[in-house]
Amino acid sequence: MHEWGLMQEIIRIVSEEAALSGIVEVTEIEIIAGEWCNVLPDALALAFDCIREEIRSGVITKSTVLVLRIEPALAKCRQCGHTFTPDYRLALCPSCGLAVAALISGETFRVNSFEGRDFNEN
Ligand SMILES: [Zn+2]
Repeated sequence: MHEWGLMQEIIRIVSEEAALSGIVEVTEIEIIAGEWCNVLPDALALAFDCIREEIRSGVITKSTVLVLRIEPALAKCRQCGHTFTPDYRLALCPSCGLAVAALISGETFRVNSFEGRDFNEN
C-alpha cells in the first residue's frame, strides 16, 4: 500500500511549508487525485486518519481535514479532436474509431492547497 508512504510524505511537506508560513495549525489539506493516477482515494484517506491519530505535536492535528478532489479521466482524439471519457488506456475514439487518443486529464496527483491558522487567529 504505497498510499501510506505517500501520505507520510504529504504530511511532512505540508508541515514544513506551513511552519515556514507561520501557520500554527493546518485546518485543511486539499489533494487532487486523478482517476488514473494509481492512488486509491480510500486507502489515502485511511492512511491520513491513522497518521493523524498518531501525531502528538506539530501543525497537523486531530482537527485537520483531508479534502480529496477526484479529477475525472478525459481523453482527446489526436485524429478528430473529439474529447471523451476513456474506458481503457488505449481507448477507441467513439467519434472516429481510431485508438490515437491522448489522456489529457486523470493522471494528476498533487497537494492543491492547504489552509491554516497563524498566531493572530483563534
Ligand atoms: Zn476521433
